Amino acid sequence: MSICDNIGAVRERMAAAAIAAGRDPGEILLVGASKMNDAAACRAAIAAGIDALGENRVQEMTGKLAEGAYTGAPLHFIGHLQRNKVRQVVGKVDLIQSVGSEELLAEIEKAAAKLEIVQDILLEVNIGMEEAKSGFAPAALYDGARAALNCPHVRVLGLMTIPPAEASREENCGYFAEVHALYVDINAKLFHNNFKYLSMGMSGDYEDAIANGATMVRVGSAIFGARHYT
Ligand SMILES: *Cc1c(COP(=O)(O)O)cnc(C)c1O
Repeated sequence: MSICDNIGAVRERMAAAAIAAGRDPGEILLVGASKMNDAAACRAAIAAGIDALGENRVQEMTGKLAEGAYTGAPLHFIGHLQRNKVRQVVGKVDLIQSVGSEELLAEIEKAAAKLEIVQDILLEVNIGMEEAKSGFAPAALYDGARAALNCPHVRVLGLMTIPPAEASREENCGYFAEVHALYVDINAKLFHNNFKYLSMGMSGDYEDAIANGATMVRVGSAIFGARHYT
């Protein structure tokens, strides 16, 4: 199967999941998680009509940007972002999906102000309250959102989450439903219902995420094949 075939197959399953949930398939975006895949793979995904590409390592993204890997599609940063690498990402990507602390938010605001731009972001929710994972705990999310509203060079377009890897399917769906409920509540209370993106779901669970309200899924291996870690 080629990258193009894989994207077609994922799109079909996304559409079926949307229709089963009574939703419009056109309202759900497919982001290709292209980590560890080269510029040629990124270009193949763009040629096949991927809605955006997402990277999660700054160094890899910077190298592939220099090769023109993302020309023709929006670029998102979806991985853990260290504060000392913020300046390599702000202004270079269309959306930073993984803003999970007020410290990181402040650093992004500073870098965007310096460039005199407004950086679009999502707030990441650590819905499983995992020690080793970044993201706002649900209880800290509202304060984080208020802090973001006080940053004139940052615009919050929604939420992103990655549930605990060890969750059962049922637990995983429960996490998606919880994040969807937070999304609806915070959108109404603080953002005048202007949110655009609820980013959740990966290769193994994007249909369940769509059933629970995702408007953006991040799919890697189901598009690009298995990653080979060395
Ligand atoms: C790698 C990655 C994905 C995609 O993972 P797959 O299981 O390969 O689909 C999604 N989101 C983030 C943040 C990732 O790092």
